[in-house]
Amino acid sequence: MIEKVAENIYSIPVPLPNNPLKNLNSYLVRSGERDLLIDTGFRQQACREALFDGLKKMQVDLQHLDVFLTHMHSDHSGLAPELAARGARIYVGETDRLKLPGVGEGIDWERSDRSFAIHGFPENQLEQLTQANPAKVLAPVPYDGYLPVREGDMFRVGIYCFKALDTPGHTPGHMCLYEPDAGIIFLGDHVLFDITPNIISWGYFPNSLGAYLEALDKVDALDVTLPLPAHRTFNADLHTRIAAIQAHHRDRCTEVLRILDAEGPMMAYDLTGRMTWKIRCRSWEEFPLAQKWFAMGEALAHLEYLIALGKVERTLNGLHCHYMRVPEQNRKNVDRK
Ligand SMILES: [Zn+2]
Repeated sequence: MIEKVAENIYSIPVPLPNNPLKNLNSYLVRSGERDLLIDTGFRQQACREALFDGLKKMQVDLQHLDVFLTHMHSDHSGLAPELAARGARIYVGETDRLKLPGVGEGIDWERSDRSFAIHGFPENQLEQLTQANPAKVLAPVPYDGYLPVREGDMFRVGIYCFKALDTPGHTPGHMCLYEPDAGIIFLGDHVLFDITPNIISWGYFPNSLGAYLEALDKVDALDVTLPLPAHRTFNADLHTRIAAIQAHHRDRCTEVLRILDAEGPMMAYDLTGRMTWKIRCRSWEEFPLAQKWFAMGEALAHLEYLIALGKVERTLNGLHCHYMRVPEQNRKNVDRK
């Protein structure tokens, strides 16, 4: 059901079948002239129907539509080229734009697989994953007309004036749109209320968790009365939620340090298997492959962050990377609250 969430702002629910995220909130801001749509859904029939039917119901003229993608992930960008083919203009943060199919060099999946193998992820499982990865299967078709957005760019839409904010972490080029007078923010996947946004390690973007925590502080400092996330529940208290996400990552770091203190140097894959995950599985080896991949990506993001804080170090032994605690006397005097 399309829902009015504020004056001239509507949420169009787009289902994400077989995906733990369940749905995408695509938001539509109306104006007398050009409308603005935020995020699109996967390139998949169920998403396509929900989005295009919603736009039709709202009598949106696609020739007069701007689309803002909060980030490059396929559940946000998948249908963008189809909207562009019917006349819409598509905007996305410059950093993520370069990784979208059809622009720049794109994501080098082979390189990403190789880097996971170094951390102990079994190579045969990486191969299976590559075949079924929804990020690839449901990704937008190649399109080279994305318009780049930078920090501070303004989107005037009817009574609103939204400012683009860099909020890297979930992806290197993730952005939010903020309306200071109305206290409204389109959060994308920067802050979600029912699930913790996934923060993984990115080869070309070092210390994603450090960048993410800084971007959380940045959004926490804003005056917000209506936070609008890209998935599930919206309109909960933003600052309480940010504090909970920060605490979650602090706890995660503590857990990683505790495991390394107790068990000594190990590969990221083995460390991930020793961490606690909210998933009903008898053992780490039985984790569904995609969840395993994301879990290790998350463990790596925490390890990189702890390296930046001077608490952990890594060595390359032969073909594999091992992580260990920095001896007490060598630890840098840096810490986060
Ligand atoms: Zn995402």
